[in-house]
Amino acid sequence: MIEPLPPGSTIGIVGGGQLGRMLAMAAARLGYRTAILEPDRDCPAAQVANLHIAAAYDDARALERFIQACDVVTYEFENVPVETARTLAERVTVHPAVEALEMAQDRLWEKIFFNSMGIETAPFASVETLQQLEDELRRFGGNGVLKTRRMGYDGKGQCYLREASDEAVKRALESFGDAPLILEGFIAYEREISVIAARGIDGSVAAYDIVENIHHHGILTRSVIPASVASSTAETAREYATEVLSALNYVGVIGIEFFVLPDGRLLANEMAPRVHNSGHWTEAACAISQFEQHIRAISGLPLGDTARHSDCIMENLLGADQERTPELLKQPDLVLHLYGKAKARAGRKVGHFTRLFPRGARKEQ
Ligand code: AMP
Repeated sequence: MIEPLPPGSTIGIVGGGQLGRMLAMAAARLGYRTAILEPDRDCPAAQVANLHIAAAYDDARALERFIQACDVVTYEFENVPVETARTLAERVTVHPAVEALEMAQDRLWEKIFFNSMGIETAPFASVETLQQLEDELRRFGGNGVLKTRRMGYDGKGQCYLREASDEAVKRALESFGDAPLILEGFIAYEREISVIAARGIDGSVAAYDIVENIHHHGILTRSVIPASVASSTAETAREYATEVLSALNYVGVIGIEFFVLPDGRLLANEMAPRVHNSGHWTEAACAISQFEQHIRAISGLPLGDTARHSDCIMENLLGADQERTPELLKQPDLVLHLYGKAKARAGRKVGHFTRLFPRGARKEQ
């Protein structure tokens, strides 16, 4: 019998972005307090949390304060320094485990792990020299994507090499400096999907319906639910998620992105050891959102029902899109969520909205 975290306990969240904000709001609904560790003084999460420790992630005194304040700790972004996570895990329960965080931070390890589970990925190779890059690119038919192994997100740290000239290949390699790199074969996928799933402390797993994602310049712009994939493809994606969660002895919500090939085969692209942008729709179309699901999981509470009462489309709001608020709020069946970002830099995610449709009634939008 696992004792759930009692109401009034404090959940620590490393990172203070919008994901941390939505986790803190879900935690509050379940009677928990939250403490945020994040250097930025006016971060979205701190605006809705009980305590904000505004310090660098390697500030020993700040970590000590954070440890004293928290009953359990989680993260809201995957580039949390592993050393910080380890220091925390020595003194306080941390979910998901540091090993999952470490794996998800490196595109090479992640792909090796997927393949070891029998889950296919794009062909890939670790590359260090120009000769290696040219050889591997040839092996991938001259079409590849060169990526930094670490710290890449939203399409940052990657460069397409499609039929590239020798000079362009050389320039691409040089542009990354000393960063460790991975070359992936370019995948002519039919669509991109993701699965949002959770595993509880008791080992139970619950997955939401499969999401179809549309990216623009590497940033997610829209998620459509349900995804236009065969039910067997959707089932396989959910099975893969269950296998990954169990293999990692994972506790919390995970997001796994896949490419769907024209023949329905799935290639895993990456996993995020946290709540995921492509799961935001769950707050509007399910009784239990991915945020509450994560809080339930790490608190030892029973996982919630992942059933969906509506079809829906989630869209991200970037930069000055906040100005659309009055117009959006006039629309029926639309759930808006803004992140409280005062400075709306161009291209920065400032909110999202989810449009709801009766199940099965949605026509192509
Ligand atoms: P990532 O940072 O790996 O999630 O990549 C961002 C986006 O770039 C993906 O959502 C895809 O649209 C595209 N992409 C990444 N890797 C590949 C690949 N190997 N082949 C084709 N497109 C890719």
